[in-house]
Amino acid sequence: MSSTESSHVFEPGAELARSSSPARILTLVHRHGSLSRAQLTKLTGLNRSTVGVLIAALVAHGLVFEAAPAGEAQVGRPSPEVHPNPAVAALAVNPEVDAVTIGLVGLGGRVLRKVRYPTQRIPTAAEAVNIAAAVIAGMRGELDAQYRVVGIGVAVPGLVTVADGVVRHAPHLDWNNEPVAQMMAEATGYRVRVANDASLAAEAEMTFGAATGIANLIYLNGGASGIGGGIVADGRLLTGVCGYAGEIGHTLVRSDGTSCHCGAFGCLETEVRQAPLLAALKLDAGDPAALARALSATNDPAVTSEVHRQVAYLATALRNVVNVFNPEAVVLDGFLAALYAAAPEQLLAAVTAQSMREPGAQVTIHPAALGADLMMVGAAELAFAQLLTDPAGFMEAH
Ligand SMILES: [Zn+2]
Repeated sequence: MSSTESSHVFEPGAELARSSSPARILTLVHRHGSLSRAQLTKLTGLNRSTVGVLIAALVAHGLVFEAAPAGEAQVGRPSPEVHPNPAVAALAVNPEVDAVTIGLVGLGGRVLRKVRYPTQRIPTAAEAVNIAAAVIAGMRGELDAQYRVVGIGVAVPGLVTVADGVVRHAPHLDWNNEPVAQMMAEATGYRVRVANDASLAAEAEMTFGAATGIANLIYLNGGASGIGGGIVADGRLLTGVCGYAGEIGHTLVRSDGTSCHCGAFGCLETEVRQAPLLAALKLDAGDPAALARALSATNDPAVTSEVHRQVAYLATALRNVVNVFNPEAVVLDGFLAALYAAAPEQLLAAVTAQSMREPGAQVTIHPAALGADLMMVGAAELAFAQLLTDPAGFMEAH
């Protein structure tokens, strides 16, 4: 895989602008779910007859289909709408410290199937690949009969070299230099691409979620094992040289803070953590929704104090990204969404007060919209990228 090819994965805006006409039509239908011919004509700037020819070609390849619009009866012949064909699908894999989740996602970004396979201990890379391959093998009859699978996207909580799909360092999984793309391809026979989970989530939120159409956004996800981030600047996910960019969890928020596994100290990830919130609430473990409910139901001063302490450190990290990137939106996911829901005014006021006045006044804060499906949708986008860039070439080659 060339670095040029891999760059398509992270450039939805640029990709759309320079891609061929069939790619533009397919990408628009994929992102919007369904569009009329008139809408496609307007969005692409192409003339109506050209759009008709391109749609016919995509229909012939089985990538989209046309259907009468749903809803009330219309006078005269209704204009058909173009839909993505969900039988063209991608597999998504997300290894975590306590489970491996495998999903099937249709063109259009809808999760068709999701299997969460809990593990007794933190899975090694080989174990995670074996689990995913076994689940996929179990689905294989159905996949071969009913779907055209474009490949597998893997979302890993760690630093990933996107060009070769090697996980360089995933601290919480304790994976180092694991050639996950190659291992997964050998185990399943599918094309495989791998990237950082929070980066993929940021793209999914921009493409399908809370930040649709927002070209400058900061995404932060708080999980049991830490804080991941993704930065979308001017419509592009910021990757850095190798795909490592966006580690906002390891920016300094407290100069006398505790030491972090990354080797530094006072990181956002060491000061803003799920575990002290759960401990203050006397919860064992909680999904973000349960945590948010528990936080809203309590008036325990110990909990309130911990919330305010964490919100203050989160605001410091956000002040830094607001001043550096001038984002339109900050999207908070996982336990950070619950923390925000517990003190929304405090967080926004603290970010606004600390940031420079102009970028501070422009930023908005939102909880993530895609919830539990986010990582599946994000990983699937990785697998769909080549098809969306060159639909005709891809379908001829596969
Ligand atoms: Zn750190």
